[in-house]
Amino acid sequence: MESIFRGIGVSPGIAIGPAALLGGDRFDIPKYKVADVEEELARFECALRKTRDYLKKIHAKTVERLGIGHADIFTAHLLVLEDVTLLEEVRSRISAESLNVEFILDELSQRYTDLLGAVEDSLFQARTSDLLDVMNRLQRNLLDAERTHVREMAEPSILMAHDLSPSDTVMLDRTMVLGMSLDSGSPTSHTAILARALEIPAVMGLRHAACHINNGTSIIIDGNEGLFIAEPTADTLDAYRQKQRQLEETRVALRGIMSHGSSATRDGVSIPTQANVELPFELVPELRDTAEGVGLFRTEYLFLNRDTLPSEEEQYQAYAQAAETMDPLPVTLRTMDIGGDKFVSHLQISKEENPQLGWRAVRFCLERKDIFKPQLRAMLRASNKGKIQIMFPMISGVEELRQVKAVLSEVKKDLDGEGISYDPDIKVGSMIEVPSAVALADVLSQECDFFSIGTNDLIQYSLAVDRVNEKVAHLYEPAHPAVLRMIKWTCNAAWASGIPCSLCGEMAGNPLYTETLIGMGVTSLSMSAVSLPLVRAEIAEINFGEAQELAARLLQMGTAAEIKTLIEERYEKRGSAEAFISHAVQREKDAPSPLEY
Ligand code: PEP
Ligand code: MG
Repeated sequence: MESIFRGIGVSPGIAIGPAALLGGDRFDIPKYKVADVEEELARFECALRKTRDYLKKIHAKTVERLGIGHADIFTAHLLVLEDVTLLEEVRSRISAESLNVEFILDELSQRYTDLLGAVEDSLFQARTSDLLDVMNRLQRNLLDAERTHVREMAEPSILMAHDLSPSDTVMLDRTMVLGMSLDSGSPTSHTAILARALEIPAVMGLRHAACHINNGTSIIIDGNEGLFIAEPTADTLDAYRQKQRQLEETRVALRGIMSHGSSATRDGVSIPTQANVELPFELVPELRDTAEGVGLFRTEYLFLNRDTLPSEEEQYQAYAQAAETMDPLPVTLRTMDIGGDKFVSHLQISKEENPQLGWRAVRFCLERKDIFKPQLRAMLRASNKGKIQIMFPMISGVEELRQVKAVLSEVKKDLDGEGISYDPDIKVGSMIEVPSAVALADVLSQECDFFSIGTNDLIQYSLAVDRVNEKVAHLYEPAHPAVLRMIKWTCNAAWASGIPCSLCGEMAGNPLYTETLIGMGVTSLSMSAVSLPLVRAEIAEINFGEAQELAARLLQMGTAAEIKTLIEERYEKRGSAEAFISHAVQREKDAPSPLEY
């Protein structure tokens, strides 16, 4: 029977396919005496072989998709499978105790888990967690666990899970994952941001929908409306297939039209639209056609899913490639924002009670200059290859900005001493995403070259709503009057100091807010590449003066409900995507020269 669940649409599009339930990391482990020890030993060898084959496959795939550095983790896992002492212990216990292999592996895992908690040595910890990962994989192969693992889906499916970490999301294969549904999560979690980067339609915050679903159940994901439909009727399926075709046609039409010129309002005010980049595959030459630069390069993704830090050289290659690909357009490299929901196991950041308020971003970098300085060196060196800008995340006050700038000066001096060149006029910006930075925006604006408002965090910190917690997702309100005022104050401070003020939070990619943000004084918008066409279409239909009037009206309002009513009304009246396509087609007929926006 058809059932419809309402969640939060976090990545647009429609996906239709069978459910693939993603397993947790624990299974029920049986314990029993085996009748035939030889047979049990053979089962163990078979599971070892399957695990080895799988790891080799995933190693090769990771090298292909993310580069050799990211594949180290699987090399380490393969080495665990060569560990003679470990394998011999399992084999001899099977022979001596006639117990099933799963039970023996489980006991061993328990022993290592206990050790993991007791020893502080980082090398030992890394090795132990590799070992536990491999044990888990072996168990899976032995138990033929019904639930799928994120990296081994057998057919194109709708991935369903309770939760998924950003590092697991990075590994998703877009040809296999048609759509995604999570019990947890919210639109500004990094998992959601990645789903958009991968262009996988996704619904999150579904609470317990997965409990009602079996592997293979027919599913529709409506990422626009936040709907999850199980066992749809033939009529529903038809309607959604049609909707899917229409969305695809609009997407193709918009993409085609967008690949010309720069973005400006109807009355000619230039509002550059740029891309947020997380993964290397996003940095393709075609990005230059739709994006007027990279407004946010989340460099921390270079540090995820690996056992070792990326070297300065490896980082240099990544940044230089970005600069060259986008040249002459700017690429804004944000120094690593590790911490929060982006946990990097090998950096020994211990789990925190309040990770969003914890050892994150520049707080981490200022204490780990051994990691920070090579990153800054790599960024400066890459500035020879195109137009690089450097941006610091989570700046909470002037001292912090001065401290990170002082480290940058030290690194520049080192490079000067070594005769290594870099762009001497490189621009340095501050993210405005902590409320204290808004309050100090007038001072900060005098000490940097640009601002970029990070609304994902600014909303979380000013409304005290955890951005990854689905239980409070309904309280996470971009249209909150306090949020709009903070955006306005930041823009005013930037304007007074004569510096540009970009906005690179997820609000930038929602065309509903485009007019509001432009009216407040945001000078450029940076978003997931998938959102660029719609936002550009919206900008082209907006009148700058009217947007300013709208902003003034909104700033008088006391509730998000009033604000939303007004902006939704105006948005719907404009119907920009359709209007843009028909205007563009008309203009193309009138003037056969390339369109300029
Ligand atoms: C933000 O906070 O708005 C932002 C762009 O940074 P991130 O989402 O990576 O925290
Ligand atoms: Mg942020």
